[in-house]
Amino acid sequence: MIKKFIRKMLGVKNKPDEALGNRKPKVLHAKEHGIDPQLLSSNAIRVTQTLQENGFKAFVVGGAVRDLLLGVKPKDFDIATNATPEQVKRLFRRAFIIGRRFQIVHVMFGQDLLEVTTFRGPATEAAPKDEHGRVLRDNTFGEQHEDAVRRDFTINAMYYDPSSQTVLDYHGGIADIRKKILRIIGVPEARYREDPVRMLRVVRFAAKLQFTIDAATRAPIAIMAPLINNVPSARVFDEMLKLLMSGHAMACLQQLRKEGLHHGLMPLLDVVLEQPLGEKFVTLALANTDQRVLQGKTVSPGFLFASLLWHQVVEKWDAYKAAGELSIPALHLAADDVLNTQTDALALQRKIGSDMRDIWAMQPRFEKRAGKTPYKLLENTRLRAGYDFLLLRCASGEIEAEIGEWWTAFINGDEAEREHLLTIKPKHESSGPAKKRRPRRNAPRKASE
Ligand code: ATP
Ligand code: MG
Repeated sequence: MIKKFIRKMLGVKNKPDEALGNRKPKVLHAKEHGIDPQLLSSNAIRVTQTLQENGFKAFVVGGAVRDLLLGVKPKDFDIATNATPEQVKRLFRRAFIIGRRFQIVHVMFGQDLLEVTTFRGPATEAAPKDEHGRVLRDNTFGEQHEDAVRRDFTINAMYYDPSSQTVLDYHGGIADIRKKILRIIGVPEARYREDPVRMLRVVRFAAKLQFTIDAATRAPIAIMAPLINNVPSARVFDEMLKLLMSGHAMACLQQLRKEGLHHGLMPLLDVVLEQPLGEKFVTLALANTDQRVLQGKTVSPGFLFASLLWHQVVEKWDAYKAAGELSIPALHLAADDVLNTQTDALALQRKIGSDMRDIWAMQPRFEKRAGKTPYKLLENTRLRAGYDFLLLRCASGEIEAEIGEWWTAFINGDEAEREHLLTIKPKHESSGPAKKRRPRRNAPRKASE
């Protein structure tokens, strides 16, 4: 019923040959596609060349081709080939077969990692699925045109051969790149059912590339959004992390909300997008993250999630203190509460959780600006993260700016300056978040959309 309705609504006709993929790709030469060969990594060339010299087909594929066509240096290179994982492994000194759902080969050169995948065949009817139609395992190899049809978007289904400098375009990806359109391959509803994570990918690419989502690609998302609930949380978490670290986190979150994908799906998103308390803080944290990513700096997931969940911690911290706990134990209890909920819901890895806890636990220690405590904090290996976090709290108005300025001077100062700073009496002696600024508990919450 719903299927029929969506098809009718979208004007999608069943095209039997589409499921098999367009057999003949459009071939574009250097003059037509204009890819700058300088943007290619030497290791990507090495891998494709080695495979080709051994009689196999090999191409750069997916996001790297998309980025090359947009004139952007790809952050990593995926390679597609007709060699089987075993055959690939034999050709490289450091190559490892990984993955169960679909085997791929990791080829390493120093720190650089390239993912080499064998062309995938058509999804068989017999492939195991869950009760909602999500494909659980499918390990069939196939022809290149079959591999193309299984990829998610037209702009992600192009193949580039560095030796001949040609692009093979099976699904009109070039035209869509030029028109800045994100279009899913095949019948959108079926593709989301097979793998609901594709809905999150739509949002990420649209926000990151600033592309328009094709109407037929977009329409079923609002209806099918709840299917994401059936995806293992570790996979949703991976996609969320990519989204938050895309350099366009804020735009992605706004787009998620626009598509109706945030609601009830990921508890973390409900917290982030619907908390009046920490909106300014979260906005600043995400802007800060975006800026770092765009400058090519590293972003730690621990810092990111510590920021996203901070105001939930603050709320609970206040509640424990109001119930009579001392400040430091109250903070630890609050951190436990928040981490316990989010670890279950989000599959937060243990390392990320412990980084978050370290950053939070350091915060009250910045309040102590006398005696030996500040020196001890200087030796803390996580000082940088804790201090950056402190600055965010200042910038959001949660605590006085003066405390951040004091720490900047203390960290950068020499011995004499530090001794002098320790003699200054803080303007505002406080313990924990500035009480004056805490919004009233009964402040009206924003109506959720
Ligand atoms: P990014 O720049 O974020 O790495 P990407 O397009 O390379 O973008 P990856 O997750 O690295 O994204 O995936 C590589 C390629 O594999 C994609 O371009 C697409 O062709 C294919 N792909 C990835 N995930 C899916 C999926 N869920 N369904 C279908 N194809 C997918
Ligand atoms: Mg990629």
